[in-house]
Amino acid sequence: MSIYLSASLVCPVSSPPLENGVISVDDAGRILELIPADLAKERNLENVRFLEGVLVPGLVNTHVHLELSHLKGKIEEGTGLPGFVRQVMQQRAAAGDEISEAMKLADAEQYRNGIVAAGDISNQLVSKAVKMNSAVYYHTFVETMGFNPVMADEIIARAKKLKQDFLPLTAAIAPHAPYSVSKPLFELIRAEDNTACITIHNQETAEENQFFERKEGHFLDLYKFLGLDISFFQAQQLTSLQYFLPLMPHNTRILLVHNTFTSAQDIEFALESGKDIYWCLCPNANLYIEKRLPDLKLFRQEGLNITLGTDSLGSNHQLSILEEMKTLHFQADIPFHELLCWATLNGARFLGLDQQLGSFEKGKKPGINLITGMKDGTLTPDTTIQRIL
Ligand SMILES: [Zn+2]
Repeated sequence: MSIYLSASLVCPVSSPPLENGVISVDDAGRILELIPADLAKERNLENVRFLEGVLVPGLVNTHVHLELSHLKGKIEEGTGLPGFVRQVMQQRAAAGDEISEAMKLADAEQYRNGIVAAGDISNQLVSKAVKMNSAVYYHTFVETMGFNPVMADEIIARAKKLKQDFLPLTAAIAPHAPYSVSKPLFELIRAEDNTACITIHNQETAEENQFFERKEGHFLDLYKFLGLDISFFQAQQLTSLQYFLPLMPHNTRILLVHNTFTSAQDIEFALESGKDIYWCLCPNANLYIEKRLPDLKLFRQEGLNITLGTDSLGSNHQLSILEEMKTLHFQADIPFHELLCWATLNGARFLGLDQQLGSFEKGKKPGINLITGMKDGTLTPDTTIQRIL
């Protein structure tokens, strides 16, 4: 049986918006047809459910850490990245019950906020049960970390086991960040038969570039705090991105997360590398940790593949892609339709889910959300989202 849904505006994402358009879906939520308003009138459709607002496909959160959900409200804001990492390490241990309860709530929050798929960073197996039982599709990135080259074999072996343990969930082994992964470990990750997509935190702080260019800055204190002697490491005279990108795999979609201190030269370098790169923006986490946003003008000019992420509840007040869109709109005046493409189809493409998700197209089952409280086609502080299907 067909269900007909209509709204003031229907945004398929892959094709132009339809004013008062109608979507027909089957019982399973699969899109059967998109019907423009005049055609719907002509056909005299019955039982059309009209909703005031904007219908959009399910949102995709390409960067979250469910296993850090219990850190909500515990991490001081504005400390900069090295301070943030230190706080997470000091606070992440907690009772098993507290951790699983927080993850369940975080997963339910994502669902409520219209998120249908997420790329989830995992250091441990703790999130498996929540992800298995969720209506949200999770792709797990098993995160590897270890700047000491001597440890590389041991770390990759542990990561391989963890990836196995996550089965039947889809998972890929991914490096945490350039400053926490040694060259030999990058090589072992590259040698992995590593699915179609991979991710890494990129240039979240100015200190990261400073460390790779000149071996200076707060990262030296962080290694001291971690008890790691980094006398083996030489300044690379390169920005962080220009140092690590050649170490990343070929023929794999690569998601660079944050990009807060990525320059025009870095972007050019990335484009010239010939790698298939997606750029994930997590504006609310950037404001939480570094109180600053990436150079959005630059990213938009270059026409890059941009996706959105919330990062964890350790560095965000909520897990809502709509709230990330609102922040970008208010801070950088980015139009709604551009943000919506980042929040849906681009994320689905990165995760390899665009056959099913990301847009209203015949045969897909993308989920349907209703956005209300917009004004003249733009987001307002009162804009909210709810799940329809
Ligand atoms: Zn992160």
